Amino acid sequence: MSYPHLLAPLDLGFTTLRNRVVMGSMHTGLEDRARDTDRLAAYFAERARGGVGLIITGGYAPNRTGWLLPFAAQLVSSAEARRHRSITAAVHEAGGKILLQVLHAGRYAYHPFSVSASSIKAPINPFRPRALRDVDGTIDDFVRCATLAREAGYDGVEIMGSEGYLLNQFLAPRTNRRTDAWGGTAQKRRRFPVEIVRRTRAAVGDDFIVCYRMSMADYVEDGQSWDEIVALATEVEAAGATLLNTGIGWHESRVPTIVTSVPNSAFVDISNAVADHVTIPVVASNRINMPAVAEQILAEGQVQLISMARPLLADPDWVAKASANAADEINTCIACNQACLDHAFAHKTVSCLLNPRAGHETKLVLGPTRRAKRVAVVGAGPAGLAAAVTAAQRGHRVTLFEAGATIGGQFDLARRIPGKEEFAETIRYYTRMLDKHGVDVRLGTRADVDALAGFDEIVLATGVRPRLPDIPGIDHPMVLSYAEAITGGCVGDSVAVIGAGGIGFDVSELLVTDESPTLNLKEWKAEWGVADPAEARGALIPPVPAPPARRVYLLQRTAGPQGRRLGKTSGWVHRASLKAKGVEQLSGVNYERIDDAGLHISFGRRRTGARVLEVDNVVVCAGQESVRDLVDALRVRGVEPHVIGGAAVAAELDAKRAIRQGTEVAATL
Ligand code: NAP
Ligand code: SF4
Repeated sequence: MSYPHLLAPLDLGFTTLRNRVVMGSMHTGLEDRARDTDRLAAYFAERARGGVGLIITGGYAPNRTGWLLPFAAQLVSSAEARRHRSITAAVHEAGGKILLQVLHAGRYAYHPFSVSASSIKAPINPFRPRALRDVDGTIDDFVRCATLAREAGYDGVEIMGSEGYLLNQFLAPRTNRRTDAWGGTAQKRRRFPVEIVRRTRAAVGDDFIVCYRMSMADYVEDGQSWDEIVALATEVEAAGATLLNTGIGWHESRVPTIVTSVPNSAFVDISNAVADHVTIPVVASNRINMPAVAEQILAEGQVQLISMARPLLADPDWVAKASANAADEINTCIACNQACLDHAFAHKTVSCLLNPRAGHETKLVLGPTRRAKRVAVVGAGPAGLAAAVTAAQRGHRVTLFEAGATIGGQFDLARRIPGKEEFAETIRYYTRMLDKHGVDVRLGTRADVDALAGFDEIVLATGVRPRLPDIPGIDHPMVLSYAEAITGGCVGDSVAVIGAGGIGFDVSELLVTDESPTLNLKEWKAEWGVADPAEARGALIPPVPAPPARRVYLLQRTAGPQGRRLGKTSGWVHRASLKAKGVEQLSGVNYERIDDAGLHISFGRRRTGARVLEVDNVVVCAGQESVRDLVDALRVRGVEPHVIGGAAVAAELDAKRAIRQGTEVAATL
């Protein structure tokens, strides 16, 4: 067996988990409406069939004040509990176990009747909470929720005590200024969560899992001290918890904890340190996405379980593939957040950029075809790869034409950006899948109309070409395309980047970062001011970013702040990172001309503030135009191709749409 620790069962005394993989809680949006219960059951069942040992649902509020949003998911009645039976039955039928997460949003609740330990507004929420008066009654609500979860057939509950939600708010001096029995000293601040665990255990009996998710590093000022964290762990164990799960950072903290630029397994040491103080199993979490790493963590550390949420959205068969010693077939989560957390924050159903079936299992069905067709796919970027692999998986005979020497398209560029190294995993996955499903891959082959004759279906995923803006001097030798800059074109010490979209930000990040951009935990901690939790309360120290490798100007024509269209959960990280590295961001710019002196600019409609940026290079990141040359040529021959990805619409080109379109087209062939 390749992963003996990861795949070993875990005996909890009254029940046994079949392996060490926990699907961590992630709110999908399907929890909030009763009519989506079957979709939620299908989503969890697919992961249970894929071998996950223990699944944890998204958060359910124990009462109305705890709702994340008005009328968000709650579990407060037997009628609601009955609806959950289809979820628990589906998971049990597939051999899995499932916990319901009890989450009280506290001051993160997006409604006017929110409560917290004290009446202190969260910086990320316009609603000011009331100081919770009936703490005892709220404990009763948690206990009722756990009892109802048992009634609904769950194997246990996870009590959500991290990420800055209500229980975490009681624990930290930042948010708990009470002077009654629930605040004033660290011990009194701990009473609320510890009492919840104690009374829950008393109510549900001994044969029910009570997992407590605790914040092991708050990453906010006036967060918990290390002594307080350790004391909480031991008291929660004594109160009757079965498992301790890891939570890292508050939603309002200015330290990224899950985006792709956070080094893999960055927080495992903290979970191991907590595990040293308790006897119950501790679950490690955050930025763990492949079996070899998970195995190493379990083999070398004190933790006994590994929690992953997004990696199991990206690949529901993650565990099955690890068990079959086929980790190279895992569609690895790249921590982009684009279709999962960004959807959750926009109140859309959570899915996955790499796996558009996630959350849509009942709708996007990819069964085997009844009639195998000859399918040509032109272009091996994300859209073409998704179409080719999905069609071949369904039993079609697929030929994939790619004019370049490699597959991956824009992903082949993205993987070279510091902090996006994991995008290479997607290319590894598709390379393996093309091989496994017998796709005839023709690299270095520009398909023309003749080459496409004789196919039953033609999918055009020819992608995009960079837009060349109409600026006097744009053909000056100092001007580089973004592809040239990313793939190692010679770039001088000072650079102006034209265009502040996703690629302008990425290119700027690349230019200010020293060579060999491997993710380095020590440098990452210094850049974000991350301390060991034992070093400082709240685990924060002043940041010391590495000096920039170049002087970079990032420019856009539109007035106002840059990066407004970047992802909700990752955009702030990119903006903060460039600011820390001294990138000068200029908006409302007119590009006057480029000559030996550099880039000449002015500002606004009146063209004021004329300035010359004396740079060695200008890198153009001004968006793209669709490559659709084949569309008309095929139509002249009476052939109607399927056009997907950037070839269909270049504006707002994004991999999420490309992969979804590729998969959906292949589902219809
Ligand atoms: P983009 O986001 O559309 O940005 C293009 C930039 O070029 C804009 O800043 C635009 O700003 C400027 N521009 C457009 N036409 C121009 C012209 N004629 N002359 C000068 N400037 C012009 O495109 P992108 O940066 O190429 O990114 C493509 C897509 O890739 C994005 O939509 C995103 O989905 C994805 N992506 C995302 C990320 C990320 O989230 N980190 C990273 C990489 C790629 P002005 O019009 O204001 O000048
Ligand atoms: Fe992972 Fe991105 Fe998919 Fe979310 S959308 S699960 S971060 S690959």
